[in-house]
Amino acid sequence: MTIKSPADLSRLCIHTITTKPLDFENAVYKYASLNVSGITVWREAYSDIGPVKAGKLIKDSGLNAVSLCRGGFFPSVDKEKRRLAIADNLAALDEASDLGVPMVVLVCGADPGQSLDSSREQIRYGIEAILPKAEEFGIKLAIEPLHPVYADTRSAINTMAQANDLVDYFDSPWVGVAVDVYHVWWDQNLKKEIDRCGEGNKIFAFHICDWKVPVIDVLNDRGIMGEGIINIPQIRQWVEDSGFDGFNEVEIFSELYWKTDQDIFLNKILDAYYNHV
Ligand code: ZN
Repeated sequence: MTIKSPADLSRLCIHTITTKPLDFENAVYKYASLNVSGITVWREAYSDIGPVKAGKLIKDSGLNAVSLCRGGFFPSVDKEKRRLAIADNLAALDEASDLGVPMVVLVCGADPGQSLDSSREQIRYGIEAILPKAEEFGIKLAIEPLHPVYADTRSAINTMAQANDLVDYFDSPWVGVAVDVYHVWWDQNLKKEIDRCGEGNKIFAFHICDWKVPVIDVLNDRGIMGEGIINIPQIRQWVEDSGFDGFNEVEIFSELYWKTDQDIFLNKILDAYYNHV
């Protein structure tokens, strides 16, 4: 199968968590200086300046505000914690609105004290509880399936099929999927489920990084594109063939790279974007 033309710079977005050591203003400045097109904002990134000022900085920079990371973490064996999780997700929608971002990414959550089925039920309930506000604000909710290695504490939604089932359940233009190559690359049904998702125009986001071999830490040892074993151009082609025309979002959690010079790191990301995406 032939791969399409190299990824377009006008579709490059970077998550603030990727350059975690940079403060918000600096991250915005550096991304814009490198002609990156979009920014996905992690909530902790603007904790000192607040979402309104952060949103203004993005607007003034010319960057596209792509999404807010993250909501979710609905399940808990403790009823009060479930209530607080919903309140926190409603607050995330307020922040998204203040920031001017059109989408909140949901890392749905899981509680090891109960079955995955119970967690999934609570995820459904949680999304149901916040959906009216998302609709009212015109903010999309993107369910991000997480690699099964995170099924203990981070998400009971582990495959594209499960995410698609959930999206089908809601049948709302405001509920779709964030496809992250790190989480779904291993799935034998990936193409089929990407096609299924694309058919309903439910691919809301596309996240990229790489799976290094060996992975030292599955959370915080993610690779730059091309550094690992994920066939990113192939997956990008599948999502684009299914109709997705949004951003290619670089989301790299890496203790290794966070310790390095962030300008050099950003240049490596740009180089990898041209050559391995
Ligand atoms: Zn992601």
